[in-house]
Amino acid sequence: MANVIHIKPHHFVDIITGLGAGGRFEPHPYGHAVHTVAECIMSDRDVLLEMDLGADDICKPCIHNIDGLCDDTIDISFRPTAPPAKREWNLLIDRRWCERLGIRQGDRLAARQFCERLRDHSGDITDIYRENPADRTAERAVKLKKGIKGFLGP
Ligand code: SF4
Repeated sequence: MANVIHIKPHHFVDIITGLGAGGRFEPHPYGHAVHTVAECIMSDRDVLLEMDLGADDICKPCIHNIDGLCDDTIDISFRPTAPPAKREWNLLIDRRWCERLGIRQGDRLAARQFCERLRDHSGDITDIYRENPADRTAERAVKLKKGIKGFLGP
């Protein structure tokens, strides 16, 4: 993998949340690179990340990455007010994370620094995932907190 990992902010958050949920990252039928990027980040907590709100290094090998645009949809059965196109949904969530953490497209920071920002500034994430049911977000928040702790250590 390249020296710098291009990553959507919410993809990093998802990896840390996954770590809090047990930290097993397996290859996905979509063929995306969550598992390899997660492995890279876990094996070097100081690896450099570049914030990328478009198709990132996780999206690169994904079957839904069509010429740099995601053609997937999201499940709106439990979040009827969310935009059904995953591209729009991701952008919405990424923009909220950017605002919350004070980051912008193209910013570079080490994975550890990103995680420290999460620790210090993520606050109540209900507002970031406001289209989702509150109980799901509450579960997500617990895993995220656990993941941050696990990633940064004592
Ligand atoms: S955002 Fe779309 S293209 Fe990127 S990994 Fe997810 S499904 Fe694939």
